[in-house]
Order: sequence, then C-alpha cells, then structure tokens
Amino acid sequence: MITELTADSPRHQTITVLGATGSIGVSTLDVIARHPGRFSVYALTAARNVDTLLAQCREFAPKLAVMVDERAARQLAERLAAEGLATEVRAGPQALSEVASAEEVDCVMAAIVGGAGLPATLAAARAGKKILLANKESLVMAGSLFLDAVREGGATLLPIDSEHNAIFQCLPAQMAGGLAGSGVSRIVLTASGGPFRNTALAELAHVTPEQAVKHPNWSMGKKISIDSATMMNKGLEVIEACLLFGAQWHQVEVVIHPQSVIHSMVDYVDGSTLAQLGNPDMRTPIAHALAWPERIESGVARLSLPSIGRLDFDAVDESRFPCLPLAYAALREGGSAPAVLNAANEVAVEAFLQRRLSFLGIPSVIESVLHALPACPVTSLETVFEIDAAARALAREKTQLAS
Ligand code: NAD
Ligand code: MG
Repeated sequence: MITELTADSPRHQTITVLGATGSIGVSTLDVIARHPGRFSVYALTAARNVDTLLAQCREFAPKLAVMVDERAARQLAERLAAEGLATEVRAGPQALSEVASAEEVDCVMAAIVGGAGLPATLAAARAGKKILLANKESLVMAGSLFLDAVREGGATLLPIDSEHNAIFQCLPAQMAGGLAGSGVSRIVLTASGGPFRNTALAELAHVTPEQAVKHPNWSMGKKISIDSATMMNKGLEVIEACLLFGAQWHQVEVVIHPQSVIHSMVDYVDGSTLAQLGNPDMRTPIAHALAWPERIESGVARLSLPSIGRLDFDAVDESRFPCLPLAYAALREGGSAPAVLNAANEVAVEAFLQRRLSFLGIPSVIESVLHALPACPVTSLETVFEIDAAARALAREKTQLAS
C-alpha cells in the first residue's frame, strides 16, 4: 500500500518545492497532501509571500523555508518562532540553490517564474535530482547547456508543462534513435488562444492587464497568463518541446483548441495520432511526474466528454499573435536568440502589468531587442547570464521609449 510507505521505502521521496506559494507550488502541495507517507517536504521557497509560506510550513513542516526577500525572511522566522514551529529560515537567492541540491533531497519541483529560476534549477540538475520542470523560461534561456548539466549530473527531467507532459505520455517509453527512430513525424501543441482569441484586432491596442490575466480555462500566475494572451507562452513551449524531445523547429506545430481538453498530440509515420486528454488542472501533470512511472490520485475530476459536448480546433492567426512567429524565428536562429527572446519578453510583460506598455507593445519591444542583439553562439552559462542581462537592459530602454 502506497499509504504505508515510510521514509526508508524506495518509493518515498523527499521534496523541495521552489516557488511553493505560486500557482504550481500550491497545486504541487495539494497533490502531496493527498499522499501522506509517500512524500516528505524538505524545503519550501518563495520570493516574499510570508502569509502563504507560513501556512504551508504549518501544514508540511519542512526542514527549511527560503525567502528571497531578506525582510520577508526575518518576518517569517519571527512568526514561526512565535508558533513554536521548527522550520529553519534562510534568505536570499543563493539559499534557493542550496535547498535544490541538498543531499537529503530526491526530487525538486522547479516552479519559480522566469529566468530567476535558472540558478536553482541548474543546481538541482548538477546534483543529480529528479527535476519536475515547470519553469520553462530557464530551459529556454540556457537551452542545450541546461540539458548538458542534467546529463552530466545524472539528473532526471520530467515535464510539468501540461503540453510537454502530454507529449511525454504519448511518446514511447524507450526513445532510442530519437523521434525519427521511434516513428514520430510531428508534435502538435494545443493552445487555448487565451482571452483574446476572438477580440477585434483594433481593440487589442487597448486591452488592460485585468482583461489579459483572465484565462478562459487555466488558473495561473500573472506572467504566464499574459504570455498565454500574447501566445508567447506557446512560443516558449515550442522551444521547450524542441529541447526536451530533440525535435527540429519544423516538427512542432501549434493548433488552437479552445477547450484545453486535449493537452497535446504526437503524430506517427503510420498515420496514428496519440493525444492525452483531461480536465485543465495542473494537478494531473504534477501527479504524473511526482509518481512516474507509477500513477497516483491527483484530486482532478474525471473527464466527462458528454458534458463538454464538442472539441474545436483552428489554425493560429499569426497577425493576431505575432509573439508566436517571433519565437519560431528565435528558435531557427538558435544560439543566444531564445535567451534574448525570453529576457525581452519578461521585461515587456512586467511593463505591461505595470501599465507602462500597451499590450501590442509587448511583441514590438521583443522584436526590436531581437534585431538589436543578433544571435551569437552560446558556449557557457556565464555567456547565458551576460546575454540575459544585456537583453533585459535593452528591453527596459525600449519599453521606456515605447511608453
Ligand atoms: P506564480 O507567479 O503563481 O508563482 C511563482 C512562484 O515563484 C512564487 O512562489 C513566487 O514567490 C516565486 N518567485 C517569484 N519571483 C521569484 C524570484 N525572483 N526568485 C525566487 N522565487 C520567485 O507562477 P506560476 O503560474 O506558478 O508559474 C511558475 C512556473 O511554472 C513558470 O515558469 C510558468 O511558466 C510555469 N507553468 C505554470 C503553469 C500554471 O498553470 N500556473 C503551467 C505550466 C507552466
Ligand atoms: Mg503549457
């Protein structure tokens, strides 16, 4: 019985959740709480949300809690002490890498948003952990260097992004010979089309952050919600799919599927298409990756196709979603281009959320940064961080000019 697992059981896993207070972090802890005895929590981390992290420490009693913000860390430590809780608090970004690579840890949920997640996710890779990768930005940013670290560290990388988790489930268990050797002809990523799928093009210039974060099917953090509205999220996912599954850019296609029930598909050379379906709830891919290769309950309601009634599909209108062709262009260019794309996007999305940039300003800023910083080879992680910093600085300038 799974519930009878103890800390000595080979199936028992000790986990660090990076980004515990976010949408993915909370869903991860929801799944973990459903399986007492199967998982222990070693560390929980957050940027500065003291109330949520404190409540999570009460429930999961981690050995360590990390807050990036020093003041928030002091507050958390005081409140834990006042309640007599034993969780030790650490502060600052370096502590994220420490709890991601600690010897006691088997598994790391990488759910920090943005490039800020890269150092700790890399630390987990180098330390040979099982990494549940939600933080797609770090993979896009570091590309094959990240995969090298996974290989050299002996880590296991499991995709949490619902599309990539679906593809992983639809691919054969043994992939010797790569996609071609497995008879795969194409990967099809589904995209909901976000909140502006049918909005008149003329109105897009005036949409607000409140409208843009309202995703029709998924409940997610602000940054990925804006990325879904621009479809940069799908662009980052195309790059993510190429890296994770060894695909070429022309082997990955995107199709609009407004119900988000089919999470992605794999086409085989014999004409078969395999798809993974489910209600749009991230606890399914999280539970899949947590227990892989076993299956565990996730709390997600069973899919009822009769009550959904129909599944629709549509081609992507690139004039409505210019971020998607920008991502394909960066992928084709290779080298530093995906890192530049990601950095410029993070700065532009932040500016849009702070009402310093219009919605249509997001692709304009990204495009102009990509033009200004032509792709160069990326040979080391130091270069990745330098390119990221240069692209962010330039995007900040362009954002100010565009506002
Ligand atoms: P979120 O904004 O809800 O949560 C982000 C978490 O990261 C929070 O715990 C926050 O405290 C922490 N954080 C923020 N900035 C940080 C920093 N500079 N340093 C350290 N920690 C920091 O985001 P989310 O929606 O949970 O997304 C997390 C990641 O998962 C993203 O990379 C996103 O693309 C990916 N993802 C999310 C979903 C989803 O359904 N939410 C689906 C697929 C992939
Ligand atoms: Mg996704």
